[in-house]
Amino acid sequence: MESTMQEAPLTITALFRRGEAVFPDSEVITFQGEGSRHTRFAEVAERVRRLAGALSTLGVRPGDRVGTLCWNTQEHVEAYFAVPCMGAVLHTLNLRLSPQQLGFVINHAADRVVIVDATLVPLLAALRPHLTTVEHVVVVGEADTSALGEVLRYEELLASAPGDFEFPEVDERSAASMCYTTGTTGDPKGVVYSHRSVYLHSFCVWASFRLDDTERVLVIVPQFHVNAWGVPYVAWMVGADMLLPNRFMTPDLMCAFISAERPTFTGGVPTIFTGMLAHVRASGADVSSLKRAVCGGSAVPASLIDAFRDELGIKLIQAWGMTETSPIGTMAIPPKDTPPEKEMYYRSKTGRSVPGVELRVVDEDGGEVARDGAAVGEIEVRGPWITGSYFRADAPEKFDNGWLRTGDVGTIDAKGFVQITDRSKDVIKSGGEWISSVELENLLAGHPAVAEAAVVGVPDERWQERPLATIVLKPGATVEPAELRDFLDGKVAHWWLPERWAFLESLPKTSVGKQDKKVIRAMYAEGSIEVVDTGAASRS
Ligand code: ADP
Repeated sequence: MESTMQEAPLTITALFRRGEAVFPDSEVITFQGEGSRHTRFAEVAERVRRLAGALSTLGVRPGDRVGTLCWNTQEHVEAYFAVPCMGAVLHTLNLRLSPQQLGFVINHAADRVVIVDATLVPLLAALRPHLTTVEHVVVVGEADTSALGEVLRYEELLASAPGDFEFPEVDERSAASMCYTTGTTGDPKGVVYSHRSVYLHSFCVWASFRLDDTERVLVIVPQFHVNAWGVPYVAWMVGADMLLPNRFMTPDLMCAFISAERPTFTGGVPTIFTGMLAHVRASGADVSSLKRAVCGGSAVPASLIDAFRDELGIKLIQAWGMTETSPIGTMAIPPKDTPPEKEMYYRSKTGRSVPGVELRVVDEDGGEVARDGAAVGEIEVRGPWITGSYFRADAPEKFDNGWLRTGDVGTIDAKGFVQITDRSKDVIKSGGEWISSVELENLLAGHPAVAEAAVVGVPDERWQERPLATIVLKPGATVEPAELRDFLDGKVAHWWLPERWAFLESLPKTSVGKQDKKVIRAMYAEGSIEVVDTGAASRS
């Protein structure tokens, strides 16, 4: 029997029309370092239509890729809507990639137009001679562009375009945007999001984060990284004010922006919140408007969740996802009837899959592991916003009969709570047994002298691999490795305790601020870090 329901397409255009029609007075607020630029949704919407008209005049057609090399700004939000709504594909470019990788992804995606922030002109200029597909460069803001050759100016383009561009009806399954993985574990690979996947993901994020037009949403996650976790689309859809920090991402400036514009909600990677906490402790900066912050991208230490609750009054909610999952995959919300003393147990887990995402943990033979919170396997997911392939790249090893193999290793319990213990590339296998680097790092981060910790596996004659703990101390703090070992003793199996320790000024980070364990392992291999040995491991 056929249904009689309407088949309205699930498109970004539908989300756009809603924000435009229902929330004309909500604001997009862009930080200027000092003071902010406030623009009502009504004006942003008109500029979105102008941008689409201008790109259309330049010859951009449905399916064409338009790259953005931009910070979190109003203009970037305008491109978030104009490009997909006209049927073209928004390719957000990670401005922290190496110039070689950036050149590779622009050519690989065959971007025809690149929109670039004035401050990033030098970065693009260095690549320009190597770009084989880019026909037009559009510069946002004032900059010396002589090194780029001929360019177009964003504001001039908008001024000359009509404000009533009518968006075409696009197929909900057509490509809307694309983002390359950051290449933490290999070459960047392109993930393409459809209108439908963005639409459904937005509804999931909306419901999971419970956002509405009373919220002021600070978008810390870079817009070049997985659509800023989809937050701009959700904020627009529900009429929440959108606060964009621009290029002012240091903790002091971020806190100044928060004090001035008073966001209620935000999201970001743990590094950002660790920096924010240290700054507030040192300066007393006022971040009291913030009530909730979603934190993910790497494991969130329980000590950080505690400090946010106790010192700042902010609920830090752990979530997990990846570029391939749009990104929301799990959230760590304690189940009903959780007694207060068990709250933190659940909050510091990776979480349960959100509605719309199916999740399983499989062993090396492909069978599901026991849901006992102890058996370890690889996490696999599927759902309408989980990628099924990569753009112009074969990667059969990433898929398992319609499931995405995440490369994350962990456990699942009877209530569906997942705990990531490692990435498959980072697991430490000592004498045939797994040691969780994530668990050791989280515990070490709770020591008062430790600012940051990363634990990697290094070759060992007897046990094949043993953990090396690399530590960044808090300013002015000192601690002996033996004391850190004692601190861990009793909290984990005795044979997990690292005997190799190194103190570093800072930890190498990837382009999105995650610990770069490849680099730490390479530094160890070439002998460029000084290692203190607290004595041979025993398997007692
Ligand atoms: P890249 O894969 O290039 O680092 P992604 O942003 O796609 O960039 O990273 C996704 C990965 O980040 C996940 O596969 C997982 O390893 C890690 N990650 C994300 N959220 C969490 C979390 N809450 N706990 C532990 N790891 C996480």
